Parts: sequence; C-alpha cells; structure tokens
Amino acid sequence: MMSIIKRSMSITLLILCVVGLSSSVPLNDVSSQKCGYESCTKVNQDELNVHIVPHTHDDVGWLKTVDQYYYGSRNNIQKAGVQYILDSVIKELWQDPKRRFIYVETAFFWMWWIRQSDDVRHKVHTLVRQGRLQFVGGAWSMNDEAASHYQSTIDQFTWGLKKLNETFGPCAIPRVGWQIDPFGHSREFASLLAAMGYDGLFLGRIDYQDKRARLKQKRMEMLWRGDDDLGKSSDIFTGALYNTYSPPPGFCFDVLCDDEPIIDDPNSPMFNVETRVASFIEICRNMSKSYETNNILVTMGEDFQYQDAAMWFINLDKLIQYTNIKSARDGLKIKLFYSTPDCYLKAVKDSNPTLPTKQDDFFPYASDPTAYWTGYFTSRPTTKFFERQGNDYLQMVKHLQVLGGLEEHNSFVLNELKSAMGVMQHHDAITGTEKQHVAHDYERLLDAAVEDALIVARQAFNKIAQRDALKQPLFSYDRCRFNESSCPTSENSRQFVVTIYNPVGWMVMEPIHVPVLDGTYEVYAPNGEKITSQLVDIPEPVKKIPTRKSKASHELVFIAKLHPLGVKSFYIKKTSKISKRDVVNTNEYYGNINDYWKNLHDNFVEIHNLDDTVDHKFKREQIPLPIMKVDAKVNIEKDINADILKDKDDNVDVEELERIIKETKLETIGKARSLDKKLNYPNLNEEELRMLADEALVVERADEDYLENEYMKIRMDNTGVTHMILPDRTTNLKVQLHYWTGCYGNNTNTHERSSGAYIFRPQTTVPYAMTYRNSGTVKGPIVQEYRAETKENAASVLRIYSGLNYFVHDFVVGPIPIEDKVGKEYVVRYDTNVVNNGEFYTDSNGRQMLKRKLNERPQWNLTLEEPIAGYYYPVTNKISIQDEQTRISILTDRSEGGSSLEEGNIELMLHRRLLHDDAFGVGEALDEVAEGKGLVMRGHHKLLNINPKNAVEVIAERKLVIQTHLQPIVFVSNSDNVDFDTWMKLDNCFKGMKELPNGLHLLTLEPWTKDSLLLRIENYVDKSNDSTIEIDLSEVFNNVKIISIKETTLAANRWVDDVEKWTWKVENEFSESFNLEYNNFNSVPRARADAGEATDDRLKIQIKAKQIRTFIAKYEMVAS
Ligand SMILES: [Zn+2]
Repeated sequence: MMSIIKRSMSITLLILCVVGLSSSVPLNDVSSQKCGYESCTKVNQDELNVHIVPHTHDDVGWLKTVDQYYYGSRNNIQKAGVQYILDSVIKELWQDPKRRFIYVETAFFWMWWIRQSDDVRHKVHTLVRQGRLQFVGGAWSMNDEAASHYQSTIDQFTWGLKKLNETFGPCAIPRVGWQIDPFGHSREFASLLAAMGYDGLFLGRIDYQDKRARLKQKRMEMLWRGDDDLGKSSDIFTGALYNTYSPPPGFCFDVLCDDEPIIDDPNSPMFNVETRVASFIEICRNMSKSYETNNILVTMGEDFQYQDAAMWFINLDKLIQYTNIKSARDGLKIKLFYSTPDCYLKAVKDSNPTLPTKQDDFFPYASDPTAYWTGYFTSRPTTKFFERQGNDYLQMVKHLQVLGGLEEHNSFVLNELKSAMGVMQHHDAITGTEKQHVAHDYERLLDAAVEDALIVARQAFNKIAQRDALKQPLFSYDRCRFNESSCPTSENSRQFVVTIYNPVGWMVMEPIHVPVLDGTYEVYAPNGEKITSQLVDIPEPVKKIPTRKSKASHELVFIAKLHPLGVKSFYIKKTSKISKRDVVNTNEYYGNINDYWKNLHDNFVEIHNLDDTVDHKFKREQIPLPIMKVDAKVNIEKDINADILKDKDDNVDVEELERIIKETKLETIGKARSLDKKLNYPNLNEEELRMLADEALVVERADEDYLENEYMKIRMDNTGVTHMILPDRTTNLKVQLHYWTGCYGNNTNTHERSSGAYIFRPQTTVPYAMTYRNSGTVKGPIVQEYRAETKENAASVLRIYSGLNYFVHDFVVGPIPIEDKVGKEYVVRYDTNVVNNGEFYTDSNGRQMLKRKLNERPQWNLTLEEPIAGYYYPVTNKISIQDEQTRISILTDRSEGGSSLEEGNIELMLHRRLLHDDAFGVGEALDEVAEGKGLVMRGHHKLLNINPKNAVEVIAERKLVIQTHLQPIVFVSNSDNVDFDTWMKLDNCFKGMKELPNGLHLLTLEPWTKDSLLLRIENYVDKSNDSTIEIDLSEVFNNVKIISIKETTLAANRWVDDVEKWTWKVENEFSESFNLEYNNFNSVPRARADAGEATDDRLKIQIKAKQIRTFIAKYEMVAS
C-alpha cells in the first residue's frame, strides 16, 4: 500500500516539477489529491467548531537581521531560528495526517527550501498537495500597510507567489491574507488582495475601541469594500482575530513558554486533563460569543515559535482528543480539530452569515488610550526614502531588461533586487520599528542589490547608445548621492555625460540638479543644442550633512524633457573655473509667527487704536506674550496658543486678524501704499485683477519679494512665504517648521508611556515653532529660491522652477538637538486659508484618497486621550485639504505621518529623534546617529494648488503624484575620453514607448519567462461616465511588439478566468462613495451594481476607473 502511494506521488511530482520549471504561468491542477478547501475537515454547523490553527510568526528582520533569524544566530537577543522551525514542523506534520500548519513568509520559506534534500522536498510536496501544509499570505514578507506603496506591495506578492507557484503549483496558492501583526490596515491593501483573487483577510491588530465595540456587537467579521470605484470586485471578507495572533492564555505549549503541558496519566499527581479541558472549553465558549457563526479560529503560535514543534503538536493532539471525548460524553456540542485560516473561512462561508460592511480603513491603530501607533509613519525617514529609491531602481531595471532585449541570465540580479525590496516591505522594515543594527542590515541588503542590478541598466544604456550590446562601454553610468548634493564623477570631470531614465509612460519635464564645483558650465541636449542651465550654490545646511563626502559647492540645474520610458543623455562641459553668480543675499530677518506676535505685542497701542476698522471682538482677548525660546521651559500651550485669539463663535480667522494688524501697523509707520494692482501685477488681465481685488492681503511692501514663474507668484515678506497667487485665485500660505517634544516615562502604565519608534506621544497640544532666519534668495532663468534656516538645525528652501506648476519645499532636518535630554519630532506646517471644516484627505498606499475628520472615526464613537497622535494618518504620497475653489495637496517623496490639526492647515512629520523606548518590543530608543551625530535627513515636498472641479487639473495632479513616486533616475559618467563630436554620433535619445493616453499608467513591465513579459496597466482616474479608457497593446512600445496576451489576477499567479468571486450576504448595501457619505449619512446613494466587464477586442483592451489589469504577454523585439 505504502509503495503504491509513493510511486504515484513521485509521478505526480515529476509532472509538477517539469511544469514548474518550464512555465511561470499559472498552472492547471495536475494533482488528484485534495488540497485547499477540499482538504478541510468537515464541520457540523450545529455544534461549535473550534479551528485549531498552529502557526508561527516569523518577522523578516526585527530584533535580529533576516540571516540571524534564519540561522538562529545571536540567540541572546531573541531565541529564534527559522530553519529549525521549518525542519521541526515538517517532521511533525509527517507524523500524523490530521496535523496542519500554515506558513506565511515566502522569503524565509525560500531560504529554507533551497537548502533541503530531495527527500525533504518530496515530503513537503506531499504535505502541500494534501493540504496539511498551507501557505497563507504568501508574499515575500508580511508587508506593512501604512508606509508601503501599492506598487511595491503588488511586486512583493507577485514575487512570493511566483516562487510558490513554480515550486508547488495550484495547491500552494494562498486563499487568505494573513496580516496578523501590521500596525493598522489600509483600505487599498484590501482592494489589492481582492484583485489578487484572495477570498478573505485576517487581521491581528485593530484599534482597541473598535475591537471592544466589535466584540460586543459580534462584528468581528465583515465584508470590506476596498475601493468605491471598483465596487463589488474589491470586496473581501475580513476577520479580526480574537487574541491578536497568540494562543489563549495558559495554552502556549512552545519551548519558549512556561504553560503547563497536558498531563494525561491519571496515576500522576500532576494529572490535569479535566481542568485543562474545562478551562479551554470555557475560553472557546467566550470567544464564540463575539463571532456570528458556529466557528471560531484559535491561533496556536507566536513570534518564532515551533522551533521544537513536537512540544506544540503533542499537547495539541491531546487537547483536541480529550476535549472531543468530553464533548461527546457530556453532549457539549463542541468539536476541536486541526485547521487552517482557509478552512475556517470556508466553514464560515458555508454557514452563510449576514456580514456588517466596512468602507473606511483601520488607521490609526491604538492599542490603548495612550498608545497611538502613528510615530512609525515617520520613524527612520532615510530608510523610508531609500526604500522608495529602491523601487525606482527596480522598475527601471525591469523595464530596461525588456526594452533592451537583454540576456536572460540577468534575471539573477533582478531577482536579488526583487527579494531585497520584498524584505523592505516587511512590517518592521519600512516602518522603522527594527533595532538599529537591523536597519543597517536592511540598507546593506538593498544597497548591494541595487548595485548588482544596475548592471542591467548599464548594459541597456550601452546597447542603446552604441546600437550594439557587444561594443566596449564608453561610459561608467555612476550612481550618485544626489540627496546629499554629492557626485564625485561630476565634481571631478571637466566634461561629463548625464544619462536619465524616465520610468513613467508619458513625457516628463524634470529639474535635474548635478553637484559640481564652482565654474561655468554648458549643457547640451541630444540634438547638440545648448540648453539653458543655472548654477546655484549649495545651501550650507546641505554641505554640513555629516555623511556627505563631497567637494561640490554648487549644483548645475537644468530642465530635462524626458520621453515615456525614455533614456536621454546630456553632454556637459565646464568652460571656466569662475561662475556667474545667481545668488542674491538679502538682509537677514526673522520670519516666524512668533515674531509676528512679537511685532503685534510691540504695536499693541496701535491695535487699540483700531476701533474704526476692526471689530471690537479682536481686542477683547488678552494677546499673549510671544516669547518662545527652545531651551526655555515654557508652558507652550499657555503661551502661544493661537486659538486664544480666535473667537470660536464668530470663526474669526487669525490670518484676517494678522492682515488687519499688519496693514494698520504699516499705515502707522508710514510704509503702506494704496494698492495699485496694475502696477503690481503687470501680467494680469482685468478679470484676474478683479479676482485679486477681493483678496485680503494684496498690499505690497518695501521688504516684499516674489518667486515667480508663468504659473504662480509666491509672495514673501518678513514672515516668509505669505501667498500663492495663481491666475484665478490667491491662497494664503505659510510654511513653518515646528517640533513636538516626546513624552517620556517608565512605561509601567499607560500614562507613563514614552514616545518611541512605534507610537507618537507629544507632551503638548501645540508644537514649538522654530524661528526662521532668511539665508538667501536665488533668482535665475531656471530656478528661484527663498532660503531660510532655524537655529534648531532645520533649514528650508522654497523653490519654483520655470515651466513647472508646483512649488517645492526642500528641507534638511537634523541633527535634532537633544542636549536638553528631550526627544523631539520635527514637523512642517502649511497654513492656508482653505476652509476645510476639519476634513482632510490622505492617500491609501499612494493610490485612493480617504477622507479624515477631526474628532471622529467613521464607525465608532471616539473617546480620545491623545488629541494629536490620534489624528495622525499615514501619508504614503499625498495629503490634501480643499474647499469649493481650492485644493492644496502636498506630495511627499517618502512615507510620512500627517494630519490637519487646525483649520486650513496641513502638518507632516519629517523626522524623529527620541531618547526612550516605547516598550512595544524593539527595546531601543529611536535615536539614529550617523558619523557620531544625530542623523540628518533631507527631503522635499511638492505643493500643488488646484481647482478640485477642474478635471484637467485633477488629472495633472494625479500624474504628478505618480511622477513623484517614480522619479527619473540620473547617472553621471566622466567623458574625458569621449569628446562632444563622438558623443553626438551616439544614440542619446531613446523612446521606450508611445505617450499613454491621460488616465493610464504603465504600472509593470517586467520579464516573465523567456518569451513572455508581465504587463500591468492601471487606470488612475475617478469613476465617471467616460472613465473607461481603451488602449491598443500592439501599439504601446516602440521596439517591443506584443503578440498575444492572457489576463491574470493582480499578482499574476492565477488566470483571471479561473477565479470565482465569493458573494456574501450583507447587513446593508454599500454607499456609492465613502468620502461623500462620511458626515453626510444617507444623503449619498447606495452603490449601484457594476456596469459589467470591460470589453476587449484582442489586443485592444478597456480599463475601467481605478482598475489595474495584469497580463502575461508573448512578444518579440522589433527594430524601433
Ligand atoms: Zn511581526
């Protein structure tokens, strides 16, 4: 009997291996054995079915590095070795066909798998095919959902699932998402998971108030709509686990635990079966009170458990056996059995419950009243930035491998980078919640992978330039540290070539900053034409970045016009050692709101004389003393609470007050002039002037200045930036750096909690404002800048470029001073006069926008002890506020925490330096140091001011969001040996694809198998009558001809036709739009049924609003 089974198994295995090796497309089921839902224990819905789910939670790096965890090294930090877990579990599963186990993190599974003997591999195949070992989640890591970007989430699922598919075939396809540890859950992730064909999602951590209410109301399981525009196809069953992911108290049988084993020898004085079984039954009965169906899922495992799996299984065997005996004997109608999340989900589905619905997300996550896990949205900002760069590089090399028609063996380095980026998505990597030495290891891993993968880019660039892959490369294509304004190649060359890759499918105008020494430079475009450039001195705070090793004193700035998936080179010559200076240093002045209040105070008498013009309410209040010194211990709330000035009843605007006071002051000191608009705004027409006339603050002063281009005027006076003036509207604007001071305590109770890597817990309810000192103005043909520094080691450059419709805030933050022994969290506030009524929008993983509202949560009544941290939300790419005419959006270059804590305000946290651990496990203070000093971060925001009703501006905004995420990648090569004429003969302008129509984005282009590629096209517009967009895939690329396509699910591991979407009964219909419905309950129509599938005509495909379509495409290279 045994031998027959064995032989038939090995034949099946052989088939699987052959198919697995030859094909990376979704496999058809060649196995006759039962796996998946078929392998589940039959449940009787008349009794309580207790699904015992043995599992281990293996962080892909946290307190130890990935390798340390895998090998079980450094066990003094944490007793954890993944190789022993998998070894041990497989042995124990093999012992008894009833036992089940799930595995989640493909990164670790793969490390283990490639080291196994044939014998072990055969056993694992059998276990998988019989459903005894099931993969859940199955991505490379269990990704974070706050800081991660949807492109990287999709990539890391694709990568993990491809490995499982190639190795095991359909039995290894995970059916449920398993996000048991991430600290909050995004709506976009739910939408992605649904599009990947998953049937359900399980969560470990939801807000304690939310959980309390759900437990009480039996609403732990729900149908979550991932995206309103996608509708039903984005729905996914979502269940919150009872006990996060731990075993019930007293039932941890791991070698790391101290709970009592089940002792079943009645002759032993320690015999405990009766009491243990009784207590377990009670636990189960309690749990089941919170769940709708007669099924409960009991998680049996914890972090890095099952290194000695026998301990667990021996005791679980007994627990199951004796509980079932007792149940049968006493008629208790309870049944325990080994199960998996898939089997639990199937049992719930079969009992056909009516589910509550959910349309918002699970942010922010609080584990108790003083623990809002919103600090990690910003923790380790430089790691978060590097991760974004890693994605840029990954997309570029994937594109170039295909477009360049390069050799297949490059897949080795491509895969290395995919793995590194998969690791970076882990919920202790991109989140910044790992130990310092682990953070360094992540950087090492990613940096090495990027460097290795760049061989692909260099091959492609060389092949393109010389039209021949075999010719000796002319250039080195060096990667530079542009973020520190450092680039040895351009600094040390008299002539050099800048090569730029544009990873998006449309034409992009990108400002390029090349670090150079002082001098005069000429920049030549591929057609040999000299183009306008500008030499700008590097601000002192950038030069002082401790990790910067550069002689560069200036940046050469020019605007590059880049083609869709284009490679473009520019030739740059240094013509003289002396530069023509563009920098104009203006007088130093302090420009901060506190100084303003100081002025106010100094002019108090005049305020009293305002009776004629000012409503008396303004001066009824005591105007506070504006003293604010960082090192002075002041009660910030009391001293500078601007709210004191606001009359709540009358909604008096501080800006308005400021205006009146300022004007009055000017009058008094005799400097104000009447508004001569025509004189001040020679470029505006009559209509625009009329618009301006209604604006409050158009009074020109002697010390005012402007940054100005064809799109906008940025008005500045001695309080810094004051207005953004567009042709059709003017917005009050103030950019101001502040800092919060972090709470510290002994973490013994909730009120003694410190702000740390996970949680944000400021000491005050108003941040400390920093005092700006103007440190120069730059004016030139390409770029105009206003520069300011603070004495708290933060500096801003406010910048506009010719021809670009956004405004850049470039900042250098750090070292954050801690001489006062107080940890600090630096934020920037953008204060405007937009009337947003406490509402703001943050993006979900860089994609859909979700409405947020102060003092509220959509699904439960909020009690809040942390009024600041409790309103912080993850900002992956964008945060915005808006009213009827104006939307102000801030686009970020990495994930940050953000909020809108006051009317018209947007706040983003830039950097954190904290001196205490917050006691959530990492065991270290978040005190990053580089070169012996507090870590300095540099980043930028793009500020956009659009009319939210103007469809053209909305599309342009969305494109800019994508461009900000997928930034052009710049390489620099010395060209001392390649003179200009030789360079001119090269192919310096390569166009990878034709311009995509507005509304479409090429999300993925990567090699898949030898003759196929993976293609994802995304529609990024909101749903409307004409939001479905058609594209002919045979005409997208210039040198790649798509021959045929077959559509897969989002993660490319199943054919889309093979997926059957589950339907559930729901308590109430979804609304058409969460954002419209939030705070307008019942005024928004219920969601309509979908209009149906988009219709395709062979390669001419249609993509509906917000849809991402994924194809495996056969192709051939053609001459472009
Ligand atoms: Zn974890």
